[in-house]
Amino acid sequence: MDAHPSRPQRRDVPPGQLLIHGAWVDAAAGEQMAVSDPTTEAQITTVQKAGARDAERAIDAASVAFEEGPWGRLGHEDRAKILFRMADLLDERADDFAIREAMDMGMPYTDFRSIIMPHCSGLFRFFAGQAMAHMDGGYRTSYEPHIRILTRREPLGVVAAITPWNFPLALTCSKVAPALAAGNTVIHKPASDTPLTALALAQVALDAGVPAGVYNLITGPGGVIGDALVRSKKVDKIAFTGSTAVGMNLIRNGADTIKHQTMELGGKSPNIIFADADLDAALQAAFWGIFWNKGEVCVAGSRILVQRSIYDEFVEKFAALAKDAVLGDPLDPATQLGPIATRAEYDKILMYVQAGVDSSARLVAGGGAPKIDGKGLFIEATVFADATNDLKISREEIFGPVVPVIPFEDEDDAIRLANDTDYGLASGIQTSDLGKALRLADRIKAGTVWLNTWHKYHPNAPFGGYKASGYGREQGAEALENYTQHKTVWANLGGQ
Ligand code: NAD
Repeated sequence: MDAHPSRPQRRDVPPGQLLIHGAWVDAAAGEQMAVSDPTTEAQITTVQKAGARDAERAIDAASVAFEEGPWGRLGHEDRAKILFRMADLLDERADDFAIREAMDMGMPYTDFRSIIMPHCSGLFRFFAGQAMAHMDGGYRTSYEPHIRILTRREPLGVVAAITPWNFPLALTCSKVAPALAAGNTVIHKPASDTPLTALALAQVALDAGVPAGVYNLITGPGGVIGDALVRSKKVDKIAFTGSTAVGMNLIRNGADTIKHQTMELGGKSPNIIFADADLDAALQAAFWGIFWNKGEVCVAGSRILVQRSIYDEFVEKFAALAKDAVLGDPLDPATQLGPIATRAEYDKILMYVQAGVDSSARLVAGGGAPKIDGKGLFIEATVFADATNDLKISREEIFGPVVPVIPFEDEDDAIRLANDTDYGLASGIQTSDLGKALRLADRIKAGTVWLNTWHKYHPNAPFGGYKASGYGREQGAEALENYTQHKTVWANLGGQ
């Protein structure tokens, strides 16, 4: 790859270890896993391949730190100070985080610096503030004047954060920040393919002064160490983001220990474009909605529904935009679409491209898998026009830069198609009629509705799914609810 000196450069990443009880250690079995770069297809470094014994060590460390350590008993302000320090360190080390994410999973460096990093540090600041403002309980009256009710808001205990490979840092921060703010202790298990920012985040926790055992990191296979976390009696909560299939497994496997769980799962989100929309803005919302982070986004606008009267014009212009999309090294500021994060995902997406080609839909852009300088897991921005909602490419989560465009007639038809999916994660409506937008926002069965935009996020905006997209909310004051429990203390004041 041509490397201009002013542009961010690939860097050496030292081999990673496990963080258990405040110390970096090797896995008990001494095994390691390779981490590779989807742009160069070369190995970047290795990380420890933890096993069940390592999971037990991390669970014990987090459990002892919760029961005996100072963390849960600290004043909310003291915990908040450490979270503010974590936020500052994230900002200071933004360049390193951005390069790691670009090398590890192909996310464009520029997008990471401008969108992801401020969001991640913002999550720590937001939940530090939430803890100070909302962790205290109340003092209430009862039927009888001498009986008072005191409420306390308490942490759950040990939280295991199990995260996917598509937004490795952001989806970790959205769990770890509220968990720590509420006084829980944490074990993070990142996806096996993308552990590099997880290692750097664990170092941030150490450097910010998070006490030993409060923050633990184990890298290794989900089926072994993820499963050990889910089944352990000493783990109180699983905060999971990943596929619906694995999420269903976790719900079943956590049942025996009555696990608290939040589930952020898959999506097939409809982007409804009405004839009265500002067409250029709608084209941009549709383009970034599906192609941002090469479509490896749970809330991607992965079904584009277009009103019949503008359908042909939209398809022509959208296909032209897709054909012009710039594929390349994620460290190059000009790149819009980096490589697909892993070989397995790359093969799966190309299988869906073939399913589209074999269907009644019409390929109007992309479909190819070019190499850049002879390497890389690149897939072109791919558009299938004249699709119907029953096709495989319209029903299943492709999780790549591939989108069907489906025509509709009117409001009722749009809502029928939008809701005709097992998922309910996100949605969008592009129209100049605010009344219509809000009317339809009420009728869409999805946790997020974007009106005349797409991909907007804020620490204060609750985020989560309906239907097979999961339950529980990350971000917003609502998220703190998922990391706390309420205790009611009845007090007899005496006298009548
Ligand atoms: P995945 O379900 O394969 O893996 C997610 C995590 O679970 C990984 O860390 C994995 O190692 C672990 N895991 C796997 N098997 C396990 C088991 N038996 N027990 C415990 N843990 C186990 O998902 P993925 O391929 O990494 O991520 C892509 C999926 O995530 C897509 O479906 C996408 O829609 C979804 N996602 C959802 C959101 C959201 O907020 N709703 C956000 C991003 C991604």
